[in-house]
Amino acid sequence: MEGMNIVSEEERIKYPSSYRWGTLFNWILLAVHFSLLVAFGFTAAWIMVAFNTFSVFLYSRLFSVLKDKPALYMKLVYGEIILHMMAAVVCVGWDCGFQQYCFCVVGIAFFTNYVIMSDGAGSFSPMVLCIISGISYLFAIFVDIHMEPVYEVSPIFSRVSYTFNGILVIGLVTIFSYVYVTHIQQNETDLMDVAEYDALTQLANRHRIDRVLPIYGIDKDGSSVSYAAAILDIDNFKKVNDNFGHLAGDQVLRDIARILRNHESKEVQAFRWGGEEFMLLVVGDGSYDRLMEICEKVRGEVANNVTMFEYFRIVVTISAGVAANTADEDFKALTERADKCLYHAKGNGKNQVVGAREFFANEKDSDPAD
Ligand code: GH3
Ligand code: MG
Ligand code: MG
Repeated sequence: MEGMNIVSEEERIKYPSSYRWGTLFNWILLAVHFSLLVAFGFTAAWIMVAFNTFSVFLYSRLFSVLKDKPALYMKLVYGEIILHMMAAVVCVGWDCGFQQYCFCVVGIAFFTNYVIMSDGAGSFSPMVLCIISGISYLFAIFVDIHMEPVYEVSPIFSRVSYTFNGILVIGLVTIFSYVYVTHIQQNETDLMDVAEYDALTQLANRHRIDRVLPIYGIDKDGSSVSYAAAILDIDNFKKVNDNFGHLAGDQVLRDIARILRNHESKEVQAFRWGGEEFMLLVVGDGSYDRLMEICEKVRGEVANNVTMFEYFRIVVTISAGVAANTADEDFKALTERADKCLYHAKGNGKNQVVGAREFFANEKDSDPAD
């Protein structure tokens, strides 16, 4: 109907990860209990038929609980599993292998609780569940020693049942171990992205440099691999913010990041060094000359770029300091030299690139590194 706000089924789901994996879990449980219902029907174990009829009904209703309250869903499922296990041991005996479910509760309780918690859907107490599971196992042993099963089942039924339950336990533990590890890996990747990439410009940030240097074979404390670094700083950027607003300033930062990214390649990487400062890193022989050339190009492209923001047309310039490493120099000393060059570029009228080789060669207290 026109005008109606149609919300898809997917959008209504508050806890996507729990729902996705939980649905699979619920279907498996539904199928298993239905199979057990049929199997117990064949052996005329009517208490278990009744129990499984109830379970099938329960799981068919639990999809909606799972969607809204995954933690409650898990409590109900574990409650059902443990009660089912105890009832089965009493009714058909230890040899049918239902006590094996105690083992899978132990691992899965922690896995599912983790997934539910990271979905922000509350939590239950996996440790309590494990203790209950352990007590239930002792109960099963007690029943096995002191009671005869309510129903006598054939050895074939026991053997098939024991195998079926064992395989299912292995299957469930496998699925949930996979879900758990996949979930953690995804969370790690997301965290890494947040930690190492700048949300505004999408450039790698300063933290990322620590991981990029070793990839190039560069030792931060002194590298035999040749490389050069440039620090680039927008000129009079404060005025952009003051005159056009912070959002306009952000747009300028994005535009400059785009220009820098266009120069990236296997040996060239751009970073947001902080605030309105960027870093370019070039690795390999001839890196200093290459970086000087790139910085000069970037300087020209920035000066020619017009950032459109609302009805403003904003033009900024950029200054850069460039330095290449020497054998024993650490990364910090290298950036300090690049920074000195940048400082000089600023004092000398801005919108220019100053290289350490030329700059320190002209300085009286010539830098020993160049
Ligand atoms: P200079 O030519 O000497 O570099 O002058 P400047 O104005 O560029 O330098 P200054 O250090 O005085 O000001 C830098 C400004 O950059 C101040 C700060 O508000 C702004 N800035 C830093 N990060 C961001 C950001 O993410 N977005 C916006 N819009 N502004 C930022
Ligand atoms: Mg600055
Ligand atoms: Mg600046």
